[in-house]
Amino acid sequence: MDTAGTADTAALARWVREFARVVAAEKQRLTELDAAIGDADHGINMDRGMTAVRDALDASPPAGPAALLKQVGMTLVSRVGGASGPLYGTFFLRMGTAAGDAPELDAAALASAIRAGLDGVVQRGKAEAGDKTMFDALAPAADALDEALASGAGLADALRRAATAAEAGRDATAPMLARKGRASYLGQRSVGHQDPGATSAALLITALMTALADTQG
Ligand code: ADP
Ligand code: MG
Repeated sequence: MDTAGTADTAALARWVREFARVVAAEKQRLTELDAAIGDADHGINMDRGMTAVRDALDASPPAGPAALLKQVGMTLVSRVGGASGPLYGTFFLRMGTAAGDAPELDAAALASAIRAGLDGVVQRGKAEAGDKTMFDALAPAADALDEALASGAGLADALRRAATAAEAGRDATAPMLARKGRASYLGQRSVGHQDPGATSAALLITALMTALADTQG
């Protein structure tokens, strides 16, 4: 139930649908960013995946947080080619595992599920800070969320701080030299372009903030 500062299945579904909505709205922009330092398909990949995720949610609404997060992860892994499908898919699958059989995630459980998702991305893609990837938006967001909750912030406020950190992390990818993924093939020519995956990752966190904006605190 939202009012206690927790994320139940409905709130997580709102998050996923909001991410699908903003990915569709930003599809062109994400693809243009990938045209500069990759193969011009990131917006197409993410939109295909999140459209499939939305369709799966409509067709078979999952019963709990773990089932929902795992359905999202499985759909992304199976429907998105390229680096981003397995990485985002792993993020959601690990979140689902971390959620366990809880009927709703309180702020601490949501933060540790996000941390588990991030750890999955790192295990799968081996990205480190400064490699110019989605990690550079996700990791600052996870850190800001943990710090905000540790300092006593409520969930909605903590998510606002996480979204701000994700956007700052996204912006900070522009001057970086890419060391992972297709952009790394460009070497110095990757410098000066914002990373597409960090851009979609900031959308993921801002979508979570939006979906849980009504939670108290
Ligand atoms: P592809 O690179 O296969 O075409 P996408 O264009 O959909 O896949 O996604 C590219 C994004 O994936 C990059 O902008 C980067 O943020 C992310 N990425 C690529 N490789 C890695 C990795 N090893 N770890 C984390 N993120 C990565
Ligand atoms: Mg690409």
